[in-house]
Amino acid sequence: MMKKYIEQAESVLLHTYNRFQVVLDKGEGVHLYDIEGKEYLDFVSGIAVFALGYGQQEYNDALKTQIDKLLHTSNYYYNVPAIEAATKLKEVSGMDRVFFTNSGAEAVEGALKAARKYAYLKDGTTDHEIIAMNHSFHGRTMGALSVTGTPKYREAFEPGIGNIKFAEMNDFDSVAALVSDKTCAIILETVQGEGGIYPATDEFLSKVRALCDEKDILLILDEIQCGMGRTGKMFAWQHYGVKPDIMTTAKALGCGVPVGAFLMTEKVAANSLVAGDHGTTYGGNPFACAAINKVLDLFAQKHIIEHVGEVAPYLEQKLDELVSKHDYVLTRRGMGLMQGLVCKGPVSDILNKALNKGLILINAGTDIIRFVPPLIITKEDVDQMIEILDQCLA
Ligand SMILES: *Cc1c(COP(=O)(O)O)cnc(C)c1O
Repeated sequence: MMKKYIEQAESVLLHTYNRFQVVLDKGEGVHLYDIEGKEYLDFVSGIAVFALGYGQQEYNDALKTQIDKLLHTSNYYYNVPAIEAATKLKEVSGMDRVFFTNSGAEAVEGALKAARKYAYLKDGTTDHEIIAMNHSFHGRTMGALSVTGTPKYREAFEPGIGNIKFAEMNDFDSVAALVSDKTCAIILETVQGEGGIYPATDEFLSKVRALCDEKDILLILDEIQCGMGRTGKMFAWQHYGVKPDIMTTAKALGCGVPVGAFLMTEKVAANSLVAGDHGTTYGGNPFACAAINKVLDLFAQKHIIEHVGEVAPYLEQKLDELVSKHDYVLTRRGMGLMQGLVCKGPVSDILNKALNKGLILINAGTDIIRFVPPLIITKEDVDQMIEILDQCLA
């Protein structure tokens, strides 16, 4: 049955992914099931999306209620779920204003537009520059792609939006060297995800913040993967004692409903995008915002962030044991429930073996095994995952 669907998929879907040979059907807690009923322990959560796990009843009920009430209105009208979701997001982030999008890439697009507009209003010129990081990932639309620091993703699609310079993450001098009068923003992921799970160092982030303050450059932190509790704070930058001028979020924000947001301080909001500058048909519609509302409520009620604080050190300890045990595993990097095992070579065989044994894992780059499980995983789930991965590494 699976083979038939996979063949059909390969004849109708655009081949932009080398997919794992599995057709997933349903989910329950931290487990996924394929269409033949085989169970998998999931340490990917749809790439850092399903923070609350699958089939969360209160979440599902909230969505069903909103479907029966009102799915969509235009942003030309107010709707209560969006007002409430923005209020809650403001509370948990300490940012001042919210714009809802349908995806992470669109949140990045909005952040870049806000930064360019801010600079434009200051000096009336338009050729402003943005500094981004090597190995970064910000999405696949033209603007987000243009600040993505992996040349192979950009090459065939050049020219991008232009005036982008790339510095080295955690090398402050490489950033400072690129700053000019024209620099309007510095964009980075607080913890780089796709590029290999590189957390920003304290020193780097505080120096970049100070540089931005000195030159009135906007600091954009992309929290699409590392945010929403994954690192043990609601947003990873909250570990650092710095605050961005603009931040992006998506992935776990909707826990399965496609939604994102960019948030900014009042200072940026008052001096950037105004009516007519930016918009979206679906972004922040009542359905998507009902999801965000329930997600944020459940984060508080179920003490998700405290739970991450308890289980993440255990995951780190167990992963460190694999580093000591297996020559193929060089080191571990990460924060909270966003971890990477850096291997000596490609990890695709290991991932496929794990899949056969009922464990879902994914890579970040070719040589890194990435762990971005549902935030509700228990120590027993960690033990089970480690047991299977240990066999696959042997
Ligand atoms: C996934 C991701 C994006 C893109 O989000 P989409 O919803 O896929 O457009 C942007 N930035 C980071 C850090 C991401 O992990």
